[in-house]
Amino acid sequence: MAQRQLLSSEARDALYGSFESGQILSQPAELENYDRDASELRIVPELVVKARCREDVQKLFELANRFDFPVIPRGGGTGLAGGCLASQGGVVLSLEEMSRIRLVDEKNLIAVVEPGVITETLKNSAREKGLFYPPDPAGLDKSTIGGNAATNAGGPACVKYGTTRDYILGLEVVLPNGHLIRTGVNTRKGVVGYDLTHLMVGSEGTLGVITALTLKLIPHPEAVAGMAIVFPDMAKATRAVGAVMGAGYLPFAIEFMDHRCLHLVQDQLPFPVSGSEAMLLMEMDGPEAQVAEGIKAMGNICLESGARRLLPAANDEERERLWEVRRAVSLRIHDTAGLYMSEDVVVPISRIADLVAALPALEEKYDLTVYSFGHAGDGNIHLNITADGPERMPQVEEGIKDILGVVLQMGGTISGEHGIGLAKLPFIAMELSQESLELQKGIKRVFDPKGILNPGKVFP
Ligand SMILES: Cc1cc2nc3c(=O)[nH]c(=O)nc-3n(C[C@H](O)[C@H](O)[C@H](O)COP(=O)(O)OP(=O)(O)OC[C@H]3O[C@@H](n4cnc5c(N)ncnc54)[C@H](O)[C@@H]3O)c2cc1C
Repeated sequence: MAQRQLLSSEARDALYGSFESGQILSQPAELENYDRDASELRIVPELVVKARCREDVQKLFELANRFDFPVIPRGGGTGLAGGCLASQGGVVLSLEEMSRIRLVDEKNLIAVVEPGVITETLKNSAREKGLFYPPDPAGLDKSTIGGNAATNAGGPACVKYGTTRDYILGLEVVLPNGHLIRTGVNTRKGVVGYDLTHLMVGSEGTLGVITALTLKLIPHPEAVAGMAIVFPDMAKATRAVGAVMGAGYLPFAIEFMDHRCLHLVQDQLPFPVSGSEAMLLMEMDGPEAQVAEGIKAMGNICLESGARRLLPAANDEERERLWEVRRAVSLRIHDTAGLYMSEDVVVPISRIADLVAALPALEEKYDLTVYSFGHAGDGNIHLNITADGPERMPQVEEGIKDILGVVLQMGGTISGEHGIGLAKLPFIAMELSQESLELQKGIKRVFDPKGILNPGKVFP
């Protein structure tokens, strides 16, 4: 990793002269939460600047170019790859105060928002007008729309509705040279020129800073219903996923938990967990009658595929209780493990059971315990790799490399939604060819010839 660079006294003076004092954080207590995201990484920044408008972002880049310091964009700090950390020094640019919803337009089914809007706030605002913004990353009560765009966030609803990328029509972006560009359209369609909008989406804050977004909305579904289904093992559970989708049903969410996760949250479950049982959580949305019929039919397909029990959620409260169990898993793993690394691999749906079956041998080889849960409907598995304590890190990293190798052999990818950031830097070349990496580095140089925007991320 490149050396951390300290701000010169001239740069600090210029920053204090350019922003109001409330916009700059530099005291240890003020910087406390800016040293982390939701990964295990910790890097205390030297200075945080809180932008209140796009002109602030432009002003910061003008100074960064003049005094040659890095700028690291940050939204809600819920990322899982260390992407918003100041690994090479410089100024963390917080977008959290740029949080206005400028427009929710029910005639044209779009919203125009600033990047610091919390994901849940936008979903609720759309809901009030009978509209739906589907992306639902599980950290949506804290993550921002700008961060969701920069990481192309997914979530349980992906299986039916796609990822954040599918809802971004256009962006306003400040480039590292301080210039403002607008990409994409405000309409439902548009194909003029290269698709810079979708190049920005998922670029993890390395090409430009998103200062506004035009988002696509759709009508809100009339009803949602869900159920939990318990299977004797993971193989039967994943076979049921294929059977449900093969029968023409497209659930709103299909989540799974392996037996280790179930044992961990046993106290929250209304049944005793035994042996290697696995659980699916399925939801369906749409017109009320269709949802009721769909849930019944999906339940029957699961029983035919070997399910042991169905636990239907009769109302929103019961649905929420099922999701609470699902959310409790990561917290419990975090509390019980001395060392905890989260990988979010994706394999073809038909290979989920094979991947889970391949894990015990790897656990034994590297002395690890792996808890698996995730989005069964799109093959995105969260492998929560744990060991006794931080001293085990070198062996854990070797184990992760081996697991990722198995995923790639199965035709999968090493990250479905969390991105590369800092955390997965050592592994990107396992998936991308040297030629592809060089091409991508060339794109980075076009946008950021001086390398001042979020340096050291994504590319080794
Ligand atoms: C409990 C929990 C559950 C989660 N579940 C999911 C899930 O289901 N699906 C999923 O995809 N992720 C999930 N995540 C990860 C995380 O919530 C997402 O990656 C989210 O999109 C990050 O948004 P943020 O605003 O917190 O971004 P940050 O963490 O602040 O930043 C993430 C990256 O985006 C860049 N960035 C932020 N704002 C901007 C901007 N305006 N312009 C340019 N670059 C910017 C940063 O530089 C960084 O590289 C979860 C996290 C937690 C803690």
